Amino acid sequence: MKKKLIVSFSGGETSAFMSQWLWQNRTDDYEMLFVFANTGEEREETLEFVQHCSDYFGFAVNWIECEPGCKEKYRSVDFKTASRHGEPFEKVIRKYGIPNIALPHCSRELKEVPISAFSKNRFGKPYYTAIGIRSDEVDRISPFAQKKKLIYPLISKTFLPGIMKPDVNLYWSKMPFRLNLKGYEGNCKWCWKKSKRKLLRIAKDTPFAFDFPQRMEELYGNFIPDSRSAKLLQDGKSIPFPITFFRNHLSAKEILQMAQSANPIIRDESRAYTKQATLSFDDTDDIDAVGGTSCEVFSDCR
Ligand code: SF4
Repeated sequence: MKKKLIVSFSGGETSAFMSQWLWQNRTDDYEMLFVFANTGEEREETLEFVQHCSDYFGFAVNWIECEPGCKEKYRSVDFKTASRHGEPFEKVIRKYGIPNIALPHCSRELKEVPISAFSKNRFGKPYYTAIGIRSDEVDRISPFAQKKKLIYPLISKTFLPGIMKPDVNLYWSKMPFRLNLKGYEGNCKWCWKKSKRKLLRIAKDTPFAFDFPQRMEELYGNFIPDSRSAKLLQDGKSIPFPITFFRNHLSAKEILQMAQSANPIIRDESRAYTKQATLSFDDTDDIDAVGGTSCEVFSDCR
C-alpha cells in the first residue's frame, strides 16, 4: 500500500525542483498531494510559476489560503481566484497582530496551519510532508521532523541527497521556463526576514511592494491581541508602540524613505552556478533573519 505524502510547494525553484523529482520518481511508493499556500503577498511571477510547473510537469497543485476564523482553517482557490492584495495576510494580522522578529507567527498561520488542516482533511492520518530544504540548508531542518513526519528529499539518503543551490539553478537554466524573479525577490514581496540591503533594493526598484506593510502598520500598529500581551507579560518583556514589521523597529515608511538615497548592489543567487558564487556578503546589512529568506513550512521560519 502506498504511503501518503503532502508535497509542500512554496512557489520557489527549490521546492519546484523537489516536486517534479518526486512526481517523476516516487509515485510508485507514495500517493501525493501537492499544495501551495498563498499569502496574498506573493509576486505575480511566483503564482505564474506555480501554475506553469503544474501545467508542464502534469501534477495538480492544490492552491489554498488560510482562514483563521473558520473551523476548516483554509479555503481552496486557484490561479485565477488566488488573493493578490494581501487578504489572507490581513486576516492573520487582524487576529494575531503584526508579525516581526519578536513574534514571527506569519509563516505558521499563513502556511503551516492551513497546510496541516488541508492534509488532515484530504488524507486523514498518518501522512508524510515533503519539504524543499536543500543540503546547504541543513540548519533549517525542524527538530521535530520525526514527530511531525517531515521528510527532506533533497537531503535524505533515501531520496536525492546532496542537492545544493547551484544544482537547482543549473537544472532550471536548462528548462524552457523558470521563476522569473531575482533570488532575493521571492516569497512575500517585502518579507521582514529579508536583509536590510535586500529590502532597500526592493523598495528602490518596486516601491509599491511596500504598500501592504505600510497600510498594515497604519491600521494595526497599535493593536496587540490579548494572547500576545499575556505572553509578553509572562516573559517580562514590553513592546514598543507602534508595532512595525522590520528589524530594529523600522517601519515600511522608513524603509521607503531610506531607499531614496540608497543604491545597494545585490547578487542574484538564482543565477549562480558554482558554490563559490553563492557565498553571502560578510555584511550585517545583508544578513537575513532566522531561516534565510525562504519561507518553507515547518522550518525555523515561523
Ligand atoms: S516569513 Fe516572510 S515570506 Fe513567510 S509568511 Fe512571513 S512575511 Fe511572508
